Amino acid sequence: RIAYVNGEYLPLEQASVSVMDRGFLFADGIYEVAAVLGGRLVDNAGHLARLERSLSEIGIANPHPVEEWVRIETELVSRNGVTEGLVYLQVTRGVAERDFTFPKDTPTTVVAFTQAKTITDNPLAETGAKVITVPDIRWQRRDIKSVALLAQVLAKQQAAEAGAAEAFMVEDGSITEGSSSTAFIVTKEGTIITRPLSNALLPGITRRAVIALAAEFDLKLEERLFSVEELHDAAEAFYTSASAFVMPVVSVDGKVLGDGRPGPVARRLRELYFTFAEARD
Ligand code: PLP
Repeated sequence: RIAYVNGEYLPLEQASVSVMDRGFLFADGIYEVAAVLGGRLVDNAGHLARLERSLSEIGIANPHPVEEWVRIETELVSRNGVTEGLVYLQVTRGVAERDFTFPKDTPTTVVAFTQAKTITDNPLAETGAKVITVPDIRWQRRDIKSVALLAQVLAKQQAAEAGAAEAFMVEDGSITEGSSSTAFIVTKEGTIITRPLSNALLPGITRRAVIALAAEFDLKLEERLFSVEELHDAAEAFYTSASAFVMPVVSVDGKVLGDGRPGPVARRLRELYFTFAEARD
């Protein structure tokens, strides 16, 4: 596998950064993940715009204009022969003597790599995913796609140990989002609900596309808080992310939703999203 590190394309085994990198020492950095489908990047402009925003929110200058990012991503996809999978990008505040305050004039560290991954024929989408709910123990700027992911690592591990694919995180009785996804429910009346954007959650690029698709295809959707009880009582639930696309949820905290199979709204949105993704880069 070929990775990108600060301007160079290297075999992954030779790709490395300093132990003094602030990404390693402080999680002082930002990342971004875009899907590759049919060898093409999906909704990549949205991902690069979010990268720009996340970097700006923590005072790191974006090291590359959009065109250069696209060149790096495209080069990696091509060199690695990825037809389906992900491109991962990471920018940190760079290598400096360990000190909390920002170093002066330190170049950023830029790392990128691809992961081959089955998106189209994901068996989980056929059976539907189990999810658990966990307390949201993260910091208060979850709108920034920071590499500080310890709370998500713990949540996902807890889910895995419970035989679940995802953990939905709960704050003040309401779902914020999944550990690596945006959470949605469909009420018994057929309304799709997802939490409105704020500092409490990441502005999902897939979320945005799904909201637009719901509007285009006359599916009723409301952006509002929803509680753990509403999730447990929902007709359907699903989650969205660049890697999962639209993933139907069939049980929550061991309680089966509907008939225990992917629901019609989630399945429809998954199909609509695939059509969108094939056309959109
Ligand atoms: N929320 C969190 C916490 C995430 O980590 C992710 C993606 O990894 C998402 C939501 C979904 O965002 P996107 O659809 O842009 O992948």
